[in-house]
Amino acid sequence: MATALYCAAMTIPGPNYVYWGGSSLYINLTSRCSAACTFCLREDGWVVYGYDLRLRASEEPEAADVIEALERAFLDGAPDEVVFTGLGEPTLRLDVMLQVIDWLRTRRLPSRLDTNGHAALLHPGRDVVGELAAAGLVAASVSLNAHDEATYDLLSRPIFTHAYRAVVRFIREAVDAGIRVTASIVEDPEIDVAAAAAIAADLGAAFRVRRRVPLGTQPDRLPRSDDSGQGFDSAQAGAAVVEGSSG
Ligand code: SF4
Repeated sequence: MATALYCAAMTIPGPNYVYWGGSSLYINLTSRCSAACTFCLREDGWVVYGYDLRLRASEEPEAADVIEALERAFLDGAPDEVVFTGLGEPTLRLDVMLQVIDWLRTRRLPSRLDTNGHAALLHPGRDVVGELAAAGLVAASVSLNAHDEATYDLLSRPIFTHAYRAVVRFIREAVDAGIRVTASIVEDPEIDVAAAAAIAADLGAAFRVRRRVPLGTQPDRLPRSDDSGQGFDSAQAGAAVVEGSSG
């Protein structure tokens, strides 16, 4: 597929709602998050692949804004997938997400969510996974981030108590709903990788270890048409990682 050609070392000022990463299109809905991960790229600034991803509250897009940005991006070619990501937690904008997923479904474009898995805590009383599945979400990359709650709290610093339980439940419910799920961790000496992989397997999810990128060396170039398509899963969301090995 075709992607836009840009010059390296140029920053596209925000607000950016949609941006290319290899053959994927990424959607940036918010800069807010319910975690403060020790490895978050936000510690290193807001520019990823040359796009300034910072969104102030007044700049957060509505569904119509995202769809308009997608239609403009489609002029450069059809993406392999459209990913809800960014440097914040996309499910904070759940209703916008649902409208855009449904719009993508009607155009036969697969959608994926990069999430910290806190959605049930962010939207108590709603069946978030059921709503996402009903709208047509195809895949989800969920930041498991640890093999137990204590390590999760140490690394992810969530605003909720027992957030790890919510993450595990999100993975289980998404798998049961037929969403293709990958659970991920970022490489860290505190994490028992084998134990995390076993949890993912037990939940029926694929598993991925993401390589940590030292802060100060995050991707700052823009995607080019000859990119391999190795997207920086920025929202996983904003983790200081690039694609790592699969378990
Ligand atoms: S890595 Fe993702 S989940 Fe963690 S603080 Fe950053 S944006 Fe939030």
